[in-house]
Amino acid sequence: MNKHSPHCNIRNYFAGLALDRAAGLRRDPEWLQSRMQAADSRFVPVWRERNLLLADGQGAALLSRGAVDPWLASAEAVVFLGEDGQSGYFALILDGSDEAVPEQLAGFGEFCQLKDAAVGLGEDERGLLAYARAMAHWHGRQRFCADCGAPTHSSSDGHVRICSSSDCGREHFPRTDAAVIVVVEHGSSCLLVRQPRWREGLYSALAGFVEAGESVEDAVVREVYEEAGVRVIGQRYHSSQPWPFPSSLMLGFEAMAAAQEVNPGDDELEDARWFTREEYAAALVSGEVKMPSRPSIARRLIADWYTRDGAVLPEVD
Ligand SMILES: [Zn+2]
Repeated sequence: MNKHSPHCNIRNYFAGLALDRAAGLRRDPEWLQSRMQAADSRFVPVWRERNLLLADGQGAALLSRGAVDPWLASAEAVVFLGEDGQSGYFALILDGSDEAVPEQLAGFGEFCQLKDAAVGLGEDERGLLAYARAMAHWHGRQRFCADCGAPTHSSSDGHVRICSSSDCGREHFPRTDAAVIVVVEHGSSCLLVRQPRWREGLYSALAGFVEAGESVEDAVVREVYEEAGVRVIGQRYHSSQPWPFPSSLMLGFEAMAAAQEVNPGDDELEDARWFTREEYAAALVSGEVKMPSRPSIARRLIADWYTRDGAVLPEVD
């Protein structure tokens, strides 16, 4: 790796899932059925958009075919996630209105927020749970047809919801909302911002959703100008991250600013501040400024800016 492409091997949290999604086999009901019934199949439970983790919090609770037997018929959906050459993996999306679910599965683990638990998980576990959570959210939001209002039902692979009206029958597919997240640079300084609702001291990259009819590159320019009043004169794609909280795809960019003046344009930001590496390190060490959480691509973008020319980031939470 040379210093101009510091992130060519980057793997953000929730990305890089090694599972073969086997999309070509999803629509083969016989194959799916046999995969689902196989003793070595593994099930990833999701309830109220929470994932089941082992009681010690140090791992995903993946249930066997035998363990989920009582749940398969009543599940809101069962989604084929893929296979790893040995086992088939399925998301078991449990009825969110059933208050008894956590207690009934208490012997296997505890339902937790993935964002909080991700740091303690392995790379593949994070990716698998994020995938299952994203599918659970979509199923929960697509119970009715957006065209005619009739109830929908899940296809056998769980990747389509089909309108139950014989007049309509429209198929609905999972959606992902694209968002840009941008570290803006000028000379050796980096622009970080703070929103009033964030935890104390947190400064992060600028971010916002890509709007309808807009390119990602245009969204980078617009977001930075709208939020901070800073003109972007160049940009470089960094990496992306699935962010199923609830349904985003984060597209990370490094952008170059025309000048260092800031002019926050709306009430969204409490502060927009340029940091040199020395200023940033001092603010981290004193505790005045906090980094974004480890799972976020924002932290990766900021760390990559800081360390690009060999600087060593202070050890912080
Ligand atoms: Zn319909």
